[in-house]
Amino acid sequence: LAGARDLVDRLVGDRAADWDRDALLPDDVPRRLAAAGLLCAQVPAEYGGLGATSLANGAFTAHVGSRCSSLRSVMTSQGMAAWTVQRLGSRSQRAEYLPLLTGGRLAAVAFSEPEAGSDLSAITATIEPDGDDVVVSGHKVWTTAARYADLILVVGRYQCGAAAVVVPATAPGVTIRPVPQPSGCRAAGHADIRLDGVRVRKTAVLGGGQPIGMLVTAALAYGRMSVAWGCVGILQACAEAAADHARTRTQFGRPLAEHQLVGRHLANLLIARQVATLVCEHASRCWDDASPDMVVATVLAKQVSAGQAAQGAATAVQVLGSAAAHDGHVVARGYRDAKLMELIEGSTEICQLILADHAVASAR
Ligand code: FAD
Repeated sequence: LAGARDLVDRLVGDRAADWDRDALLPDDVPRRLAAAGLLCAQVPAEYGGLGATSLANGAFTAHVGSRCSSLRSVMTSQGMAAWTVQRLGSRSQRAEYLPLLTGGRLAAVAFSEPEAGSDLSAITATIEPDGDDVVVSGHKVWTTAARYADLILVVGRYQCGAAAVVVPATAPGVTIRPVPQPSGCRAAGHADIRLDGVRVRKTAVLGGGQPIGMLVTAALAYGRMSVAWGCVGILQACAEAAADHARTRTQFGRPLAEHQLVGRHLANLLIARQVATLVCEHASRCWDDASPDMVVATVLAKQVSAGQAAQGAATAVQVLGSAAAHDGHVVARGYRDAKLMELIEGSTEICQLILADHAVASAR
């Protein structure tokens, strides 16, 4: 990933606040990163990918997250799509779809529905076989990156279980409507998607007939890891902005940093950043070692990192005072973006339930 950070810095520049206000990324930004294979850097070289380790990709994800959480969200969707193809796709499906994702096409992953949020067993979208085709119908909500995507991986009911199906965003019967005024990650291209009898080839069906829980767990694992690292990025940006402000802003005749109660905030931010980084590094090492602890370590990383980011960003706002009370400020964005990270890829409560199950099972 040498040079990747410089490319991101050049592409983002000082424009993230404008993108957030406009609720739109310039099309060339995610596309240039996608064409360089950087939005799904763990894809192996045989499929045109960079074959990055989870640890290297994680540190890069944090860097993107420190500059722009919306762009990082698009990266999470692309990586999750690629991971889903890697995990659920046959050899020929991997050979067909992964080079598209490493070569510049953008993808989104659609699980959630109006009545299926935390409880994805309630998904009602259907993937019905019809000759050499399948017909996809349903209503998906809050799909990150759907506004930019060329391909949408739609999760739905298939035969006795579930499957993901690769649907071109321009296929007849697909309607994509941007989510109006999201509170955070505003330029991440969240959209609701209607699928009205969308016909695609049967060969586009990935992992057909698996139990829905297994399918969702496989796909979400990557999303959780990516969000966790993105939260490290939010903490980096917030900690740096808070330290800089506390060093340079004077009140009561001294820099804010010299007031001990403000110093405590800075210490808490340092701790939050370190804790989130360490827990993500541990989980990424589990991925890189193919450790059986990978799933739990990933949930733990997401839970800790999102919580630390939400608290840490709020602390940073406190340090900056009115200076952070502008929508475009990096800390104000971090505050809004971090809160959403506690809701997605398994909310705080859902992660707690998974960790509680693990605690009970490992006590046996
Ligand atoms: P609900 O499931 O209704 O939950 C509401 C509250 O109740 C939460 O606090 C939850 O933790 C709690 N709760 C629910 N069940 C339990 C329980 N059993 N025990 C304890 N507490 C519980 N979806 C996609 O498919 N693809 C995407 O790319 C995507 N991106 C998103 C991006 C953003 C910014 C947001 C906000 C959402 C996105 N989503 C996406 C949807 C997201 O996955 C859901 O919002 C999430 O799963 C939570 O579902 P919900 O919002 O319906 O909340």
